[in-house]
Amino acid sequence: MVLARLAFGVAAAWGAYTVGAHLLTPVSVWRGPATGRRIALTFDDGPDPVWTPRVLDLLGEKRVRASFFLVGECAARAAETVRRIAAEGHEAASHAWSHRSFWLLGPRATESAIARTHELLTALTGRAPRHFRPPWGMVNAALYGALRRHGERLVFWSIQPEGLRPVPAERQARYVLERAHPGAIVDLHDAEGTPGAPERLLSALPAMLDGLSAAGYELTTVAELLADTP
Ligand SMILES: [Zn+2]
Repeated sequence: MVLARLAFGVAAAWGAYTVGAHLLTPVSVWRGPATGRRIALTFDDGPDPVWTPRVLDLLGEKRVRASFFLVGECAARAAETVRRIAAEGHEAASHAWSHRSFWLLGPRATESAIARTHELLTALTGRAPRHFRPPWGMVNAALYGALRRHGERLVFWSIQPEGLRPVPAERQARYVLERAHPGAIVDLHDAEGTPGAPERLLSALPAMLDGLSAAGYELTTVAELLADTP
């Protein structure tokens, strides 16, 4: 009886720490202001030594700037790519240290996942990251305080053409163009998570960029998109 009650207590506390913490995500950023015809493209899970430079080449060719939500341990192995992201006018934002779900991290591990990435990106780019996206979109109750301490804002997305299941490149481009709206934040992946994701992204990207610009959208970073919001 005591054990059952204890188990129930532990489960309830874990539930509040994980699932309960998601009750606060609606007050996070899911889109920018709809006042201008601006959209932010965001690239998660890199830097990847092979794919990220190719995405950067393409963005450079099209004169488009974007936000990269970087995984700390990958950034540590690809310092040059992180410097290039910043040098070419893109935003280097945080996607935590490893790609582990915050449902599996206690308060101390949560603080360290935020702090280590914050310090590394600051050291590599000379600028403190101001935006954060949690791996898998999953949060816990300790995350909010940690982000406040490091001056990072929680950013999700309003358009995600590919999640856990592979989606063909043409369909991804079409999906984004059909749903494009002023202030949209588009979630893309420039490293392997879903197998083959960066390759599909790279073939979808030209049509996506051209289509959005033909529709009159200016592509920008999350930082610039949110610049006027409190
Ligand atoms: Zn991710």
